Amino acid sequence: MTTTALEVAGLAKTYTGHGRGVEAIRDLTFRVDRGELVCIVGPSGAGKTTLLRCIAGLLDASGGRVTLDGMPVTEPPPGMAVVFQEYGRSLFPWLTVRRNVELPLKEKGLARADRAAKVDAALDAVGLTESADAHPWQLSGGMQQRVAIARAVAYEPTVLLMDEPFAAVDAQTRADLEDLVRGLWQRLGVTVLFVTHDIDESVYLGQRVLVLSNRPTVVLADVRVDLPDERDQLKTRSSQQFADLRTRVYELVQSAKKGHRPETVPAG
Ligand code: ADP
Repeated sequence: MTTTALEVAGLAKTYTGHGRGVEAIRDLTFRVDRGELVCIVGPSGAGKTTLLRCIAGLLDASGGRVTLDGMPVTEPPPGMAVVFQEYGRSLFPWLTVRRNVELPLKEKGLARADRAAKVDAALDAVGLTESADAHPWQLSGGMQQRVAIARAVAYEPTVLLMDEPFAAVDAQTRADLEDLVRGLWQRLGVTVLFVTHDIDESVYLGQRVLVLSNRPTVVLADVRVDLPDERDQLKTRSSQQFADLRTRVYELVQSAKKGHRPETVPAG
């Protein structure tokens, strides 16, 4: 059995309409292994959200293909879950925390007892057992984002896509949520693709960081993060190895902003 979970090959996306086209993605090719945690960074407008939406089957590509476990993605695949930045809009305000997490399981057709067990386990994993009967609007931003994560986890996806999920929470909450995602990823063995504009976050979380070029987008660099698996907000971030990696990714993003393409960036 192949170890590749996700394959993006020659992906292109041009938005059409309003009389002119926007070429968001020109030619993106990369693979993500089963159980890998890969971060994606790049200049604003580089097409990161467009890429995730194509991978999630929410947007039709103009060219190339996305394959999940060897099957072409043409609509939202059953084994995939997505967590967006806008958690406020992704939760249903009239449903309790428990019902929000349960909804996709209902759609999946799981029996009531099975649903209840999975919801309880997911809420426990994100530390929200006490808030199960609250409504989203009664919770802080960080707690709402944890509900969104619990909903994705309860679904037991094989691939979890996250699109700048922590952009709108404060720094301390963000650090907690980063550790939560690493912990869940290690425990569940799920494949994670994590888009962020925060270079430190990409290095702290990822096993690899894909740096995207400016529009029209290609992969500018694929940086292996050879930090130990056990990461710690203080120790890891203050290590020399972390500093070197963040400098490398920072420089790559800067050169992406200046319009550099892969052939002009030295390997290393
Ligand atoms: P990022 O997530 O990296 O900031 P996006 O994927 O949101 O980038 O956008 C990439 C490019 O595509 C931008 O130039 C953006 O303006 C354009 N774009 C995004 N969505 C649409 C759309 N629905 N119609 C036309 N252009 C779009």
